[in-house]
Amino acid sequence: MDESARRLLRSLPSVEEIAGSDEATHLASEYSRREVVEALRTVLTEVRQMIVEGAASEDVPGLVLPSYLVARVREVLDEQHRPRLRRVLNATGVVVHTNLGRSILAPGAIERVVEAASHYSNLEYDLERGVRGSRHDHIGALLTELTGAEAAMVVNNNAAAIMLMLSALASGRDVIVSRGQLVEIGGSFRVPDIMRQSGARLVEVGTTNKTRPADFERAIGEETAMLLRVHTSNFKMVGFTEEVGIRELVALGAPRGIPVADDLGSGALVRLPAFEDEPAVSESLAAGADLVTFSGDKLLGGPQAGIIVGRRMWVEALMQHPLARAFRVDKMTLAALEGTLLVYRDPEKALETIPTLRFMSRSMAETEQLAATLTREIERQCGDRVTLELAESGAKAGGGALPLLELPSYAVVVRPKDMSVASLAAALREAPTPVVARVGHDALHLDVAALQSDELELVAEAVAWGVSRASRG
Ligand SMILES: *Cc1c(COP(=O)(O)O)cnc(C)c1O
Repeated sequence: MDESARRLLRSLPSVEEIAGSDEATHLASEYSRREVVEALRTVLTEVRQMIVEGAASEDVPGLVLPSYLVARVREVLDEQHRPRLRRVLNATGVVVHTNLGRSILAPGAIERVVEAASHYSNLEYDLERGVRGSRHDHIGALLTELTGAEAAMVVNNNAAAIMLMLSALASGRDVIVSRGQLVEIGGSFRVPDIMRQSGARLVEVGTTNKTRPADFERAIGEETAMLLRVHTSNFKMVGFTEEVGIRELVALGAPRGIPVADDLGSGALVRLPAFEDEPAVSESLAAGADLVTFSGDKLLGGPQAGIIVGRRMWVEALMQHPLARAFRVDKMTLAALEGTLLVYRDPEKALETIPTLRFMSRSMAETEQLAATLTREIERQCGDRVTLELAESGAKAGGGALPLLELPSYAVVVRPKDMSVASLAAALREAPTPVVARVGHDALHLDVAALQSDELELVAEAVAWGVSRASRG
């Protein structure tokens, strides 16, 4: 260490000196005094280290100025206090992105959550009779109205719904499933595993590509508790294939008193042109399914939840099971789900106000216009530090639904001039409002499919912030 570094070290103010300054006192009114002092110690250690390593000399004494130190303390405290679960801008082109929180809520649903969270409610209280009520009652009526089911209940997610259904109705007995439907849905949800966990015995029938009603019929016996269909949401089998429909399963199960269950995965309450391959909940019930399960936050566009609809006797059996208590939903989820389902009473309004449905029903022209606006905004904020191009881009439904569907969409293709695509992508993820984009081999793709029009400016800000980091080094 040279003499100038030593002099610089000696000129560093002490913790007490800075803590007594006006700026630090002001900071302490925002955060606590203890936190300010602690952060000051951290910052002073950091600066000492930088001086020892030769990062500062007498020519650049800025590091030892109280104003710099306090500003750095603010940065440290802001960072420590920033929530870890934060908003991001979804420029991936995947509408129901499980890693980014699947669906965002309709305004009506958000209002309901705020009300439920801010006040006491009749969650389990019957206001009419003044006695204990059931949390399933609030949503039950709406769900039966919208789907045509006799009864309904809601649990934490669809995985829990299936687990509850198997545990309550099939533990220690046989559940017959087609070999072509023993699927894995994102990470840890695998049909054979959940079956084992519930205590039900999996009886596989048919082959990978072809299963016929006769395969089910041969397997039905004394121990059969359920015939289960699982929607192969995230892949599609084409070619020489055959599966057994709900109607055919019901023809086998009903005369023998064996319930037929249908795990729809996404489950759709409205028909969008894009939803062609996604079975509607009401269709499955109309075909005679005894129990239908689906997610609240996939194509429904509501909160994370597992929805179970079907015949009263089976739904009531599920409500009585001890796991129903373990899987029960929180009041904020119920509020969000009720708010979402209320919008579905008017399907037109659902398409306009439920973001997942709105994103999925956008036209090519609408996405082109959004992408053009985003391009202009990035040009305005970044000048010539990037080159931009508008390109058609097949967006995805996501959430393990409609794997082959390409939604009409456009992306702004960004090529930075003095940094790599990977470092721009990384910088976007660290922006004040982080952006998650699609990284191509020589460009960054900002797909507008899952962006709201009032988010475009924020995306452009993040790009500007990202490219200016390259020049800051
Ligand atoms: C997504 C999915 C599930 C799991 O639903 P979660 O709500 O994520 O628990 C189960 N089955 C199918 C067919 C699915 O698509």
